[in-house]
Amino acid sequence: MGRLIAISNRTAADASARAGGLAVAVWESLTATGGIWFGWSGNIVEDEVGAPEVFTDEGVEFVTTDFTEAEHDGFYLQYANRVIWPVFHYRVDLAHFGHADFDIYAAVNKRIAGLVTPRLKKGDSVWVHDYHFLLMGDYLRQGGWNGPIGFFLHIPFPSPEIFKALPDHERIARAMCEYSVLGFQSTTDRSNFVRYLIENYDAVDEGDGWISVFGRKIRASAYPIGIDAEGFAKASVSERASTAASRIGRFLGGRHLVLGVDRMDYSKGLPQRFEAVGQLFDNFPSTRGVVSVTQIAPPSRSKVEEYRDLRIQLDELAGRINGDYGDLDWIPLRYLARSYDRRELAGLYRIARVCLVTPLRDGMNLVAKEYVMAQDPDDPGVLILSEFAGAAEQLSEALIVNPHDTYKVAETIYQALEMPLEERKARWEKLRDIVVEQDISWWRQKFLDDLSSDLT
Ligand code: ADP
Repeated sequence: MGRLIAISNRTAADASARAGGLAVAVWESLTATGGIWFGWSGNIVEDEVGAPEVFTDEGVEFVTTDFTEAEHDGFYLQYANRVIWPVFHYRVDLAHFGHADFDIYAAVNKRIAGLVTPRLKKGDSVWVHDYHFLLMGDYLRQGGWNGPIGFFLHIPFPSPEIFKALPDHERIARAMCEYSVLGFQSTTDRSNFVRYLIENYDAVDEGDGWISVFGRKIRASAYPIGIDAEGFAKASVSERASTAASRIGRFLGGRHLVLGVDRMDYSKGLPQRFEAVGQLFDNFPSTRGVVSVTQIAPPSRSKVEEYRDLRIQLDELAGRINGDYGDLDWIPLRYLARSYDRRELAGLYRIARVCLVTPLRDGMNLVAKEYVMAQDPDDPGVLILSEFAGAAEQLSEALIVNPHDTYKVAETIYQALEMPLEERKARWEKLRDIVVEQDISWWRQKFLDDLSSDLT
């Protein structure tokens, strides 16, 4: 394979940002091929961006650009995060549509494509990441690039009925079809996209991932993203992990830990999860005083009003549940609005008897996979997983729930707490095998193999 050229909103220009699984996977391909990584510098300037910053680290070239205030607002805060993010997570009700924002979104895609095309050489393959750059392929083609371009969508792709709520859906879909390989997290996301093309543009699903549409052939497949499975297992037995586990152990005082770990986002189903916890104590009185639920949820994009509303709602729910059920020596549900080091999280996962991963929609959900890898093989905990997380397609041995059905979620938490060791082990071993086999390297290889077999 020739050079790999990556484009993503944030790059791993800062070595500390290379700790995440995805950043490592992309970074390794770039170091192996002497590639280039394009993205945002993280800086916002008042009204005019200068030349991009270009530097090399370990043979990888970084080309990063600042955003103007108008770009950061219209492209990032508005169109990407207040239009695409909610619509793709099935929350049309939370979307704020504005034509001006789409124009800025398109302009930023075009401006960054303009930095990329002059640096491309024959034999290169381009890999574009995520919902910030749905139009990038189109602009690269307009700039004269005919080589392979892969695109991976890290978030869900909604059903056609929802996607069509986007005023610019046709423009976006046509641009997406300029990519040679389109990667989705799950077969559901892939089917949604293909159904949209079939119903609206007479596309033909040719089998084996190939779609004929708009007079050309493209490839669309599911590539469920994995984690650094072995690395996470190691982190769970590190000293930092044990320290975190013993700190929370003092708080638990022998009670079972039921754990949730999410960014505070409306897609994560946190209010429904808190309701379910209330129903657990209501309907299964034997759990009172013997179970402690901890939700870790650092605020994300807290400037945006929907997130502020969510925070208020969670404070109210937790306050009510603790007021109703708590006792002098027992806090039934607490939530910690902060981040933890990945090894500390691994330690918490390891001692949690139950992990609640109940998003209303999620592209994949890596917390579910991290929880699996952090378990003690002799005494593993139980994963409760939403059927609406991409991970549910792979992790069918988890206890799968509908997060809207709060009574059923409560019952499932009870079932998990009561599950005999033999069943816990049997389920966990199957989950572990999948997370280990389909890890981040598997994912990268599967995508890049398809991209390199592209003949455009
Ligand atoms: P999303 O990408 O929507 O946030 P994922 O579950 O796929 O959801 O990924 C979340 C990542 O962020 C995981 O790797 C998880 O360990 C990490 N994370 C979530 N909450 C915290 C936290 N409180 N502190 C540190 N890392 C966190």
